[in-house]
Amino acid sequence: MAVMRFFIGSVLFSLITLTSLKAQSTLFESYDCRPEVEIIKQIETEKRMRELAYRDSVRLAQEHLAKLKAEAYLLWLEDSVNGWKNWSVVENFSFGRDRGNLPMIADVHALHPVFRDKVMQLIALCRQKGIELTVVETYRTHSKQAEYKGMGKAYTRKGAGRSKHQYGLAVDVVPLVNGEPEWENKALWRKIGIIGEQLGMRWGGRWRYLYDPGHFEWTGGIRPTELVQGKLHHPKLIEQYPCIEADLRILQRYWNNWESEQSSWAKKEE
Ligand SMILES: [Zn+2]
Repeated sequence: MAVMRFFIGSVLFSLITLTSLKAQSTLFESYDCRPEVEIIKQIETEKRMRELAYRDSVRLAQEHLAKLKAEAYLLWLEDSVNGWKNWSVVENFSFGRDRGNLPMIADVHALHPVFRDKVMQLIALCRQKGIELTVVETYRTHSKQAEYKGMGKAYTRKGAGRSKHQYGLAVDVVPLVNGEPEWENKALWRKIGIIGEQLGMRWGGRWRYLYDPGHFEWTGGIRPTELVQGKLHHPKLIEQYPCIEADLRILQRYWNNWESEQSSWAKKEE
C-alpha cells in the first residue's frame, strides 16, 4: 500500500512539474526581464504547486497557478505604468536651502539602473562609516533645470538638456548630522567624495567653478552628444544587467510622465 502511494505520488509530481514548466515558459517568454515581484510569485507558485500536487488534485493546482500568474502580471502592469507616481519627492527648503518652487524628485529608482546601484552602494558604505546620507535630488526635469538656470549661477551652469541629472545619471546628497543637513563641513564632504570616487563616480567636490560636494555623476563612457540622442547604455552593460534595455524603456516612460507633469506645473506658475 505504501509503495503504491509512493508510486502514484511520484507520477503525479512529475506530471505537475512538467505541466508547470511548460505553462511557465509559454506565459513568461513574452518578457524575460521580469521584475522581482514576478520572480517571487513564481517561486511561491512552484512551492504551492508541489504542496497541492500531493494533497489535492492536478486541477486545483493548475487553477491556483493561473490565479497567481494573473495577479503577478497585473501587479507588474500596474507598476510599469504608474510606478512613477510613487517616486519620493522633496519640497523646497526641506534641507534648509532654497531649491526653487518645483519639487525635486529624490527617489533612487528614478536613476539609471547602473548608477542607482552605485548610489545605493555609496549610501551603504557611508552608513558603515557612521555617515548618514540623504538624497536631495535624482532625476531632474527640463522645467526644474530651467528653474535653477533662472535662479542664477550658484545653482547650475548648465541649461536644459545639459545636466547629467536630466538623464538619471547624477544625484545630489547631503549628510545628516543629528538629523540636520550639514552642508558646510568640508572634511565630512571629503570622506563622502572619496567613497563615491572609489565607486567610479565623478564627484562635484573636485570642481573649481561651482564647487558642488553633494553632487555625484556617472556616464559609463556615454558621451554628452550620445546622451542628447537618447543613448543610455553600452551593449557591454547587458552582460551585467541583462534587463537593462527593458528597465530603461520603462524608466524613460516614467521620466516622460514627470516631464509633462512638471512642465504643466511650471506653466501654471508663470
Ligand atoms: Zn547635482
